Amino acid sequence: MRLPPALLAALLVIPVVVPRAVSADPVAPPAPAVRDFGNGPERNEVAADVPQQAEALKAAQTEQPGTLSHDRGYPRRTRLPVPPANPADASIKLGLVPHHGIAPRLNDLQQRGDRVSAQVIGRSYGGRDLYLVTVTAPESAAEAREQERIRERIENDPAAAARDRKLVKRYKAPVFVNANIHGNEWEGTDAALRVIEELATSKDPGIAALLARTRLYFNITANPDGRVNGARQNGAGFDLNRDFVTVSQPEARAMRQIMIDAQPVTMIDLHGYVNGTLIEPTTPPHGANYEYDLFIQNTYANGLGMESAVNGLGYTPEKDGVYPAQIPFRDSDEGWDDWPPIFTPQYAPFHGAVAAHTVEIPLRVNGSDYTQLPVEELRRRSAINTDVAAAAIRATYAFVRDRHDRLIADQIEVFRRGSAGEPSRAVPLGIVPGFGPEDVYNTTFPRAYVITGRRSEAAAARLVDHLIANDVRVERARHAFRADGRTYPAGSYVVDMRQPKRGLANVMLEAGADISPRVDAMYDISGWSHGLLWGAGVDGVSSLRVQADPVKAAAPTGSVPRTAGALALKVADAKDVLALNDLLAQGTAVTWADGAAIVPASARPAARAVADRYGVAFTAAGTAAGAPLSPVRIAAATSADELFTLRELGFAVTPVSTAVLNAGYDWSGTDVLFVSSGLSYAALNPAARAALDAFLATGGVITRGGTGAAFNAAAGLLTATAVAGRGDANGVVRVLSTGGQVGGQVGGQVGGGSPDHSFVYSPRWFTGLGPEVTVEQSYAAEGPLVSGHWRPNADGTGGQDAARGHPAVVSGRDERGAAVVLFGTEPMFRNHPKGLFPQVARALYWASSVTGAAVTR
Ligand SMILES: [Zn+2]
Repeated sequence: MRLPPALLAALLVIPVVVPRAVSADPVAPPAPAVRDFGNGPERNEVAADVPQQAEALKAAQTEQPGTLSHDRGYPRRTRLPVPPANPADASIKLGLVPHHGIAPRLNDLQQRGDRVSAQVIGRSYGGRDLYLVTVTAPESAAEAREQERIRERIENDPAAAARDRKLVKRYKAPVFVNANIHGNEWEGTDAALRVIEELATSKDPGIAALLARTRLYFNITANPDGRVNGARQNGAGFDLNRDFVTVSQPEARAMRQIMIDAQPVTMIDLHGYVNGTLIEPTTPPHGANYEYDLFIQNTYANGLGMESAVNGLGYTPEKDGVYPAQIPFRDSDEGWDDWPPIFTPQYAPFHGAVAAHTVEIPLRVNGSDYTQLPVEELRRRSAINTDVAAAAIRATYAFVRDRHDRLIADQIEVFRRGSAGEPSRAVPLGIVPGFGPEDVYNTTFPRAYVITGRRSEAAAARLVDHLIANDVRVERARHAFRADGRTYPAGSYVVDMRQPKRGLANVMLEAGADISPRVDAMYDISGWSHGLLWGAGVDGVSSLRVQADPVKAAAPTGSVPRTAGALALKVADAKDVLALNDLLAQGTAVTWADGAAIVPASARPAARAVADRYGVAFTAAGTAAGAPLSPVRIAAATSADELFTLRELGFAVTPVSTAVLNAGYDWSGTDVLFVSSGLSYAALNPAARAALDAFLATGGVITRGGTGAAFNAAAGLLTATAVAGRGDANGVVRVLSTGGQVGGQVGGQVGGGSPDHSFVYSPRWFTGLGPEVTVEQSYAAEGPLVSGHWRPNADGTGGQDAARGHPAVVSGRDERGAAVVLFGTEPMFRNHPKGLFPQVARALYWASSVTGAAVTR
């Protein structure tokens, strides 16, 4: 399922309907759209237990997915490597195919006819193969090249494609079936394999005709780590169906590449478990960057077709515990929205899908059911779930067969509107039955975005490369130019919004909207912004007169000044952190002064090497001195995304928790303790507490969120009271950073040099500060929410107005000498707000450099 933090459940103002009992209570009446809030981890309180996997992390950062070759015909008959059998694969208990059983099945299916082609398109975080299957009628290499020429024409010259009446007749409509993105929602995979086998072996002339006019792409299991482990997340602990704005994980990169290369007109994403089967389209709020008039008509039509196919299987509440299907758009008011493009079907439309659906099959087999129900009952449920998922797949290909020309024409129209730079269209009320004013969401597209390195060249380069990886066109200005009264230097990047995928460009670069007034509660996050949170300078401009050249990758950004003497590296981007950690690991004598690392003149060759390797820019340090810095060794009681991010930044991290400390922990290898999840000072046994107290005399502490604030209070660190905002509030906030002119002046160690925006989820602010506490960053007096959803609690507390002007990040030295930083924001949330990672790094370097050195700096 699309499952939010359980925290939400406790705080939602609308009633939360618990998952329905099925066979145990077959006559229970169907409820409105049901969300299972019950069996997911509560993000902020779960101890990270992800093992150290340096290899896997490296793969997650660097591995590029394989692409669909356009130069070969079909079938391709690739021999897939077969992994060793794993008797512990969690699928086996359910009578489903284990991951190691997929390659043999696909190898066999490729031999049974000429319709099936399989390939490995990448590897999971845990190193498991990802399989893409293409089912279509045979094509010569020349025919495959022609299909690719048409696909390109649809994307890149949509106006001409729209005028070409013969085009839709010659083009095979691409359909994408994504299965098992949540590893413990298994049966989409088994249904995909079943349908592939039917298609491969069918003698039905209707199937032959279908495959002559379509290409069906199946991502057999989007999350093999989770499938094997019986877990929702991948091996890194990430929910892949939240990763599409960030694409931090290799599995998400593979899915993104399928959507770019195949350009599906229709896609379905197979999940579980909601009874009766939940089939999108969604409730409001609807994402404002879609061509929603086209999208809702097609998506609703296929939704109705899938509903009819699923109900037509004949399962009943009385006999089978299976309720009739439900469609949130039709059957619910709100609570299952398509606002954030973090979900597969909410990302696919930006690559031309004009019908896209989450499908939640009905009978729960995960969580406590997996461990407690008899195997027979689990297998009965899984068999029904497989039938339901297969019915949804068949209904979808039938839909594409019947609506072939229109779907292609609508995809062309999406890209045509983008290329022409047409304004966002208000969808006519009643365009489909029930489409009312509550469903209308629009945005304003600027003429272009300009991306500069005014904060950090490395950050600008990262954003540009991210846009290009998402198939957004970026150009680079040949000369300085003016736009909206501002002068931009030569070399600035330009995203011309007259382009086919302008919706995707805008959904990433725009600030977003505060939708608190329009809806009571949201399903997941409501705010994100690469423009505001990734550390680059991003301006929407209303006119564009510039000579610019297309770029395939951002230009190199590393530099070292020619002047002699010491060098400074301002820690303003994750790449600066990586470079500094590399220098420290090499044993370079580095000091830390007010947000920057100072490298002696003697280490110039090492500085030049990391400038090259990471694209970081050194400046002349002048007379700056600072405290000696060594590699920072972190003990971390964090959520999985924070652990991933800290390691990605090049820090050495050892996961800890209450249990780990209670078992006896050797603090001698730790410089800083990071606490945001799974560690309670009050729950430590006396020996663990004594050991921790001894560490606090020499080590630093960083905390975040409720768990962190409780730790600060219980351990008697800084004098500060953390006030909690509403628990489900989240989004982009305006902040003011105090002090900390980076590179010389005394002031905030952490906030200085930060972007003007931060990200919050369950925000906190600090009051009652002791004299030892410095304010690093405060919520702005205006807003502070820029985009997202943040309402007050029912009693009026916890709203954004209550946070206005209050400290969001504070630092200080406690009476023992420990350097402490408290975050009320979420600087590493799901690896998304890249521009905030340096704050965390600066907190770590500062805490590590001053603690134990007692007083002087
Ligand atoms: Zn799911």
